[in-house]
Amino acid sequence: MKKVLLAITLFLSYSILQAQVKHAGAMSEMGKTGFAPRISLDSLQKYKGLIALGPLGKMQGEITAVDGVPYTGIVTADENSSVQKEWQVDAPFLVYAHVEEWEEIGLRGRVGSIQELEQLIESTLTANGVDLLEPLPFRIQGAFDQMVTHIVTPRSADVPGYVEGKTQSNFDHEQASGELIGFYSKEGKRIYTHHDSFMHVHFLSADKKFAGHLDQFESMLDGAKLLVPKARIQLSFAVIDTEFSKGRLGFEQRVGLDDLVKFHGHLCDGLVLGAKALDHSFQVLFDQDKIDRTDIRIISAPSPCLTDVATYLSGGRIQFGTQSVQPLADGLFVIQRISDGKTIKIGMKPGIKPLEIIEMTAKAENAALSPCELDELKQLEDEFSREILYTQASEIFDFEELEDFQWSEIPQAVFPKTDVINKNQGICSAS
Ligand SMILES: [Zn+2]
Ligand SMILES: [Zn+2]
Repeated sequence: MKKVLLAITLFLSYSILQAQVKHAGAMSEMGKTGFAPRISLDSLQKYKGLIALGPLGKMQGEITAVDGVPYTGIVTADENSSVQKEWQVDAPFLVYAHVEEWEEIGLRGRVGSIQELEQLIESTLTANGVDLLEPLPFRIQGAFDQMVTHIVTPRSADVPGYVEGKTQSNFDHEQASGELIGFYSKEGKRIYTHHDSFMHVHFLSADKKFAGHLDQFESMLDGAKLLVPKARIQLSFAVIDTEFSKGRLGFEQRVGLDDLVKFHGHLCDGLVLGAKALDHSFQVLFDQDKIDRTDIRIISAPSPCLTDVATYLSGGRIQFGTQSVQPLADGLFVIQRISDGKTIKIGMKPGIKPLEIIEMTAKAENAALSPCELDELKQLEDEFSREILYTQASEIFDFEELEDFQWSEIPQAVFPKTDVINKNQGICSAS
């Protein structure tokens, strides 16, 4: 039964999943196979929203597809560059996705390197509730101050375009308009990103006459737009509070999963589960597009993660009698709107949380997991977090309106903080 439920959950989650990142071949392998073709670009022509990056043929250029059009940067005989839009070509490795709709997010600030660009993308994405566990295609549109890019050139004399002693041509760009086209992945190292980065990025000029691989980047990004697949934006909350210590209600902010991570201390399945449960509770059950953090009382189950989500998003505090931590049979939260007394209990449906996680968690809380088992549990929890993000809230949670619920002032019990039990465990040496 559990297996069936899991299969249904997987099916539901994957059926609404868009913009899945796929790859053919691997960056770290292609040299070893003499840049043997791994995919024909033509096989992807059916995707009107194709976005793809990879080398052309036998290292003869930089394939850069976006909005279903391939722009392949190549080095010309006179050491300049041009773009060809050929579909009948192969790639020794290609990372690609099909994205039908993009969502724009404003960028701010100056970055002085690719590493800083990566950090800005990470912080902006998490702030907008985009999970970074799953590989992600992205675009950045704007005018960029300074860039260095390259276009690869063939490695052996039998390939047209070969120049002895050369493997690429470098290009400098200043005040260049266009877009960065990239893939972000925590799991793509050596497959489609380099070993020291989570991103692979190309630059396509606004006039579509240049496409190359980004090596150096420095720019003010105020006004630039970060584009991500529409379906990937999750868990962003509008909250409203008073304007100052003696102020009126009216100060609005937007908070996201990254703010929760900063407050709680790490990204975990409990944090994602709690945020998803409260997102649904406030938006659908209380019909609030803004969370009024002055008007909520909340009881959370005694998990350090759920409790922190409750504190942060609801504005409830134990010391002011607006939050309480209590064991809730099958429940995650009981939420009450103070002004009208409306109260909702929200819990997880049976069978949603994988049995393996439940069993390993119990052991972990007794410090009975080995370092390698802890790593395994983290992986299972990360997969479960992804599942939750991609699944409709109504598939995960049970809700119940509690009529005439009376908030009772009971002394706060003290619970063990289970997320610090293994803090001094050693590292897994098996891998
Ligand atoms: Zn590249
Ligand atoms: Zn946690």
